[in-house]
Amino acid sequence: MSADRTALRRMIEEARRVLVFTGAGISTESGIPDFRSPGGVWSKMKPIYFDEFLRSEDKRREAWTRTFSGAAGWTGRRPNAGHYAVARLVAQGKVSAVVTQNVDNLHQDSGVPGERVIEVHGNASYAKCLECETRHELEVLKQSFLGAGEIPTCRECGGLVKTAVISFGQPMPEREMLRAEFEARRCDLCLVLGSSLVVYPAAGIPITAKRNGARLAIVNREPTDMDPLADLVLHDEIGPAMSEAAPASS
Ligand code: ZN
Repeated sequence: MSADRTALRRMIEEARRVLVFTGAGISTESGIPDFRSPGGVWSKMKPIYFDEFLRSEDKRREAWTRTFSGAAGWTGRRPNAGHYAVARLVAQGKVSAVVTQNVDNLHQDSGVPGERVIEVHGNASYAKCLECETRHELEVLKQSFLGAGEIPTCRECGGLVKTAVISFGQPMPEREMLRAEFEARRCDLCLVLGSSLVVYPAAGIPITAKRNGARLAIVNREPTDMDPLADLVLHDEIGPAMSEAAPASS
């Protein structure tokens, strides 16, 4: 094992309350494109902003057409070794919460209980009413959209329904951000996996952890702006690194 991976393993062993913070890099290893990178989704199609979705039926139709064409590549993928290593740490009671910038549901798919996952950018695998927050399943909406051309509305209140992703221009989810801040203040290790830590306010979470006395470890293929702040930095693949740092046998 490389010295860095050994150091990461030791750091995890010494920690009592770990906050895991994940970004696109953990899911690219599952074949999900990093949508902000060159060649990613937003270099191929223009994002639909939240206010456009609210204002324009055409934009809503376009958004749903994209969703059901699978254009963004967010759904139908499987967790990888990195997700499973995190799930093991959660199962061992090491990890209090997994804060993720990803919308792909792969932490839950890898076995992390939903209540341990804090999704600061939402979730693309289901939809939600913008008025009453009732959950709507995509499969059900898909049938009436593709079949009858119906733009989804809420069965409970008639409000607008949108995928549960936080769109460009949509306010950050307040409850999730507060929970993430709460966890950041209480952890003794913040483990960042696959985030370039440039998208705020989410990227402020590891800074909060560090300021409140936690150690900070970053595993990311590319250097990040916060590398100088970290106690340990691995420019490494997440699946292989985490498989050694949090092995199945420990
Ligand atoms: Zn509703």
